Amino acid sequence: MSDLGDLYGEVILDHCKHPQNFRALTDSTHRSAGANPLCGDNLLLFVKMAGDRIADIGFQGNGCAISKASASIMTQAVKGRTRAEAEALFRQFHEMMTRPAGTAVDGEKLGKLAVFSGVAEFPVRVKCATLAWHTLEAALKGTGETVSTE
Ligand code: ZN
Repeated sequence: MSDLGDLYGEVILDHCKHPQNFRALTDSTHRSAGANPLCGDNLLLFVKMAGDRIADIGFQGNGCAISKASASIMTQAVKGRTRAEAEALFRQFHEMMTRPAGTAVDGEKLGKLAVFSGVAEFPVRVKCATLAWHTLEAALKGTGETVSTE
């Protein structure tokens, strides 16, 4: 691991220990459940939309450090944003996680989400990191179905 990798690891561990927005919303307008059976990650996502904007968001669930930290950082990243902005972030995040090995990451564009750039080297863990985003997409679409990474 490089120094940068250690730094990113610390951010992930910190969010795992102290997840942000780790709560159920009683007044959510959208919700969705996500599961990554391969790792045993489970996620319940609550979104409160105000018009086209994500006014509030929270999550509950159990999972590995990466899935929990990803959900925590995802909620921080999309809170207050419009649906289109959240979808654009998901696309950028997804591109980063599936980029060819050795490709640099635009840390300025991705902000805090860039802490997961190293996870892309471990295909099995990519599902842990993207679970929260897939669950968000399902919640915003309002399908109400449980999302599975399998
Ligand atoms: Zn996991």
